Amino acid sequence: MDLNYSPEDRAFRAKTRDWLAANAPQEDLKTLAERKAWHRKLYEAGYVGMLWPREYGGWGATPMQQAIVQDEMARVGAPPPINGLGIGFIGPTIIVHGTPAQKERYLRKILPAEEIWCQLYSEPNAGSDLASLKTRAEDQGDHFVVNGQKIWTSSGPIADWGILLARTDPKVAKHRGISCFLISMRQPGVEVRPLKQITGHSLFSEVFFTGARVEKHDLVGNLNEGWAIAQTTLGYERGANSLGRVTRYAIAFTQLVKAARELRRGGRPLIEDPAVRARMGKLYAELEVQRYAGLRVLSALNRGQAPGAASSITKLSYTEFEKRYYETALEILGPWGQLMSAREEFEEVDSSSGEPGTWATAFLWSRAGTIYSGSSEVQKNIIGERVLGLPKEVRADRLKA
Ligand SMILES: Cc1cc2nc3c(=O)[nH]c(=O)nc-3n(C[C@H](O)[C@H](O)[C@H](O)COP(=O)(O)OP(=O)(O)OC[C@H]3O[C@@H](n4cnc5c(N)ncnc54)[C@H](O)[C@@H]3O)c2cc1C
Repeated sequence: MDLNYSPEDRAFRAKTRDWLAANAPQEDLKTLAERKAWHRKLYEAGYVGMLWPREYGGWGATPMQQAIVQDEMARVGAPPPINGLGIGFIGPTIIVHGTPAQKERYLRKILPAEEIWCQLYSEPNAGSDLASLKTRAEDQGDHFVVNGQKIWTSSGPIADWGILLARTDPKVAKHRGISCFLISMRQPGVEVRPLKQITGHSLFSEVFFTGARVEKHDLVGNLNEGWAIAQTTLGYERGANSLGRVTRYAIAFTQLVKAARELRRGGRPLIEDPAVRARMGKLYAELEVQRYAGLRVLSALNRGQAPGAASSITKLSYTEFEKRYYETALEILGPWGQLMSAREEFEEVDSSSGEPGTWATAFLWSRAGTIYSGSSEVQKNIIGERVLGLPKEVRADRLKA
């Protein structure tokens, strides 16, 4: 592992820092239109879709450069780009599995956020066990007709297009009868109902399909081979690069230190309480572990190594850390945690910008990371089976007494 930044990387960081100092918005962006305008600016500067190939509007940058941009943006609290699902994993899935016509039609509108995308995979009875999904797509000759329900659809209310998994052959084993489609969210047979979260926001939704239409040319890959495509999407979704997150935690940590200096309990500053100091010391040590774990993954990515199943280790580690982190912060702050800002709040127009405001909402939001893109238990199964080579999960009902 090489933890040193090259002279080129250092120069790139300085350039990015200057650009952000001159261009990052000074005030909260309240509307989707404002977020789109900022996104466009970032895109034109080469800071969106950095790893995408140039032929699809990307910048062909290195993972290190991308991490530097995320790091610098977190440092100044710049609003992140929108269309995170489209850019992060739906576009890359189309690059791998799409037809030339699909690439031509869809990819170039994803990066500038001209079209916003959502992911239509989970259903009320098909989350971890995604292959049990029941939404049907029936072949009508020149098109498919879709009926069924999806749930937890992030960005559903603002999405123009969705990547959809639907059952196309109910007679074969469940993994084999699923196909993957690109579907317009702007049509009469698609109803999006926002869901209210514990944080009070509505970042995701239920989606009901009643006779919705998918064109034949919007089938991705072969009929009944959608399962493999879903694995590609999930691989990108789990991601591997956590450095931008670590910077955000580190910034929140300095705010926590500041609060612990200012707030008094029992007549003295919180920071003088030995129990508080011990908790904060442990938190800081864990934060540094996360930073070096992030750098180690980045170093491998920069050498061209694919993270593979190891991305489950990264995801499990930082999402569980995030929960412990905000839990500890709330314990330290007590009732102040309900009022004090952990970081700047952005208008909740898109799930990829769904950053929490107070320490209390940050704590609530931290639960989400251990559920989406496969829960922590599911990540542990993957690590056990694919990284450690342990025997496959044994279901209790199949064990002999
Ligand atoms: C913030 C957020 C955004 C999301 N966005 C999207 C989206 O845009 N599109 C989309 O399609 N989905 C989305 N999801 C849904 C997400 O993928 C599912 O919530 C997730 O896969 C878990 O499924 P489930 O909620 O049905 O829980 P279940 O699968 O019912 O799991 C319930 C519990 O059982 C455990 N469990 C299940 N199976 C096993 C097993 N084999 N071994 C051990 N434990 C197990 C789980 O860990 C969990 O604790 C989102 C979820 C969240 C929280």
